[in-house]
Amino acid sequence: AAKSAGRNRFNFFTRELQLQAQNRQWLTSALYEALRTEQFSVVYQPIVELATSTCHKAEALVRWHHPSRGNISPAEFIGVAESCGLIVPLGQWVFSQAALEVQRIRGALDRRFQISVNKSPVQFNDVDKTHIPWSQHLEHLGLPCDSIIAEITEGLLLEDKPIVATRLKEFQQTGVQVALDDFGTGFSSLAYLQKYDIDYLKIDQVFIRNLSPGSKELALCEAIVVMAHKLNLKVIAEGVETQEQRDLLFSAGCDFAQGYFFARPMSGEALHSYLATQPAMQPPPVLI
Ligand code: C2E
Ligand code: MG
Ligand code: MG
Ligand code: MG
Repeated sequence: AAKSAGRNRFNFFTRELQLQAQNRQWLTSALYEALRTEQFSVVYQPIVELATSTCHKAEALVRWHHPSRGNISPAEFIGVAESCGLIVPLGQWVFSQAALEVQRIRGALDRRFQISVNKSPVQFNDVDKTHIPWSQHLEHLGLPCDSIIAEITEGLLLEDKPIVATRLKEFQQTGVQVALDDFGTGFSSLAYLQKYDIDYLKIDQVFIRNLSPGSKELALCEAIVVMAHKLNLKVIAEGVETQEQRDLLFSAGCDFAQGYFFARPMSGEALHSYLATQPAMQPPPVLI
């Protein structure tokens, strides 16, 4: 009986793996079709400056609406898009959409607005001869390079590949800002903070979720802020869902926050209305 139970479990696992492989295969071909027939869209989540409660930044996040399966979340398809290489054209498309959006916002509402765009490690390769630097694309649109922030992950920096250093140098020289996404969850190595030019640390949601007075998470957030500020970096907290989390982060000296407490990711149009109706920033005091 034990033997057959073992065999059943084995069969269960192979069946499970088979289903997973089938799903990945389905996703791969569906992704190609999706890019061709424009099933993707981009939403934007406001990033709020805690000291002023104003928004001058947003993160671009890709969305996939499949004609029969409905919405498929990035958690399910980004990994697949990375393994089949499709993340390269998809990432470039998200970037170009974000660039157009920031152009509209800068033109109509806020001359210093910035949109941050996730850039997968797979997009840092020298195989792609069609690669156009983001800076060049932005110049074409008449936008200064600090209109865009590139969100990269710790894993990318640990690979220690020459192409990564080259591309990050390009960002630095042209003025595209860089944010380190999901900070604290990868194999954090402080060496790369000294090696590369980074502008923002984004504290991962796992540290925010259990923030409470006296918690280890709060101690970590406070320490990250102190370290970041000494290195001249700004800090963005991700996944802020409550007033208490917001207040604790503000007291800890955190510069920016993003999360459902402030706003959910929204269409470009909705972002426009959101920005148009946010209370105007206090004008600077007049000196007499
Ligand atoms: P991320 O870059 O860390 O993005 C933040 C994720 O947290 C987003 O999930 C966002 O919708 C979600 N989020 C924001 N506020 C809250 C909150 O208060 N509570 C909770 N529970 N979640 C919140 P999303 O859009 O599902 O994206 C998941 C991940 O997929 C992203 O994590 C990013 O790694 C990847 N991704 C999304 N769009 C792109 C893209 O265009 N290119 C690449 N390479 N990756 C992308
Ligand atoms: Mg991100
Ligand atoms: Mg910089
Ligand atoms: Mg993140």
